Parts: sequence; structure tokens; C-alpha cells
Amino acid sequence: MSEKIVFLGTGTPILNLEREGPAIAIQTENNIYLFDAGRGVVRRLVQSKLPWKEITNIFLTHLHSDHTVGLTDFIYTTGVVGRFNPLKIYGPSGTIDMISHLKQAFSEDVRIRVEGLERGKERAYQITPHEVSQEKQWPEYFYKDSEISVSAFPVLHGDWECFGYRIETKDNVIVLSGDTAPTSSLIEASRGCDVLIHEVYYALGFSKLENPWNYFPTHHTSGIELGEIAAEVQPRILAFNHQLFCDGSKEDITKEIRQNFTGKVISAQDLDVIELE
Ligand SMILES: [Zn+2]
Ligand SMILES: [Zn+2]
Repeated sequence: MSEKIVFLGTGTPILNLEREGPAIAIQTENNIYLFDAGRGVVRRLVQSKLPWKEITNIFLTHLHSDHTVGLTDFIYTTGVVGRFNPLKIYGPSGTIDMISHLKQAFSEDVRIRVEGLERGKERAYQITPHEVSQEKQWPEYFYKDSEISVSAFPVLHGDWECFGYRIETKDNVIVLSGDTAPTSSLIEASRGCDVLIHEVYYALGFSKLENPWNYFPTHHTSGIELGEIAAEVQPRILAFNHQLFCDGSKEDITKEIRQNFTGKVISAQDLDVIELE
């Protein structure tokens, strides 16, 4: 079976029924890995028909709520309906605290499910958090199994720690930007990759906003900047997600990217699949 990237959510905190919060699944021959767990991730996993019961590894780029609110749903809903394996969750500083608070918040729910007549599986709620900042960073791997190796590199998202991930499968290199303004760490870690999945905002639309936040240019990447990055990285496929439209469209953002990059560009939508050879 070929490798697949499934875009479960391509949105942002902005509520949009067609775009759930950021989440991506990478499926290899025998495994499935989840990257970020935004709003709606469980619904999208079901719609995608991926074998979500098998997920055991979750990688968070950072702890902004748009990337993490679906984690609670994933842990505490799927744990009731057929996901039986313990989870390992990788993320930035603060991940250990976040998981510890989640466990505390749901401790009574888990106790009643496990000890009561439901006979819930305690294993499903065993979660081991790992903080990537304490692990080896790119070009070394912090995670490796028989199907993928993952390295992390810090990106530029304000004061809060955020990581991009470089995933090497048997035949492909996939890079996820996380949320970031342009940064050389991403360019170095993604040069020549097969698929670069990168966040973006529409620069022209942003410039016309009545009260534009300075937040966008300092924490995110415009379509024009993304084209410049892609021209340097030269990925086989550039897929953009986490799209901040600023009253524009995916075509508007694509046009901005096209000012500098002539390769293959995909504006990712929820449930889009990239099949890799
Ligand atoms: Zn963010
Ligand atoms: Zn975000």
C-alpha cells in the first residue's frame, strides 16, 4: 500500500464548517500518525475512513488551542468506542502539564468507565507525554520506528515554543511547518523534500483590513513569502493549509505563491488526500 497524507482539518480558529482545526494524518503501510488535533478531528477521522483505532502516536506542533482542542475529544471519545492502546503525545514545553491537567479533569469519567459496568479499558487512557524541546532536534531524530523517523525544528511563532516536523517515511520526506513566520530553520530542514505542508495568510487581503493585527506578519507567513520559501526549498509538492483568507480565496493565495514558485501547489481542503508513491 502506498503512503498517504490526509488533511483532516485545514482551518484556523475562525469557525468554518468546511474547515476544521489543523490536523493531518500520515498513513504508512502498517501505521497511522496524527499531527495536531484541532477542532473536529474525530469527525474528520471517521469521515476519512482511516483506521483511527490504531493511532498511538500524536505530534503537536504547539499548544495553541486551534491545534489542540480536538485532543480531548480524541482521547476521551475514541477511548470509549474502540481505541484500546496507550497514547504517546509529543509536543513543545508545556505538553506534560497540559496532559496532566487533562487527566485530572477527566479522572472521574475514566474511573467510572473503567470500574463500572462499561468495563472501559484503562490502557486507552494511559498517555505518555514527551516534550520535544528536551529531545534531539533536526538533523537528529527524536522518534523512529520501522516506518517513519521524525525530527523537530523550532519555528518562529512569537514567544511560544512551536515546532515544525520533518517526517521521513520509506520513500518520502514530508515537512510540516507548524504555525510560523518565515524562518531559516524551516528552509534548512525542508530543502528538497517531497511534500512541504505550510501555513499561510493572504497578504493583499491582510493589507486591506481596516484594523490589521500586527500579529499576522510576525507570527505567520504570507502567500508571497511562502512562494519565496518554496522557490528556495523546491519541494516536489507544496500544499498549503491553516489558511487565513483575510477576505480572499484559495485562488488569491495561490496567485501570491505563484509570483515566486512555479512547482506543484495544492490548496488543501479538509479530507483531501495526497497519495505518495
Ligand atoms: Zn498558533
Ligand atoms: Zn494555528
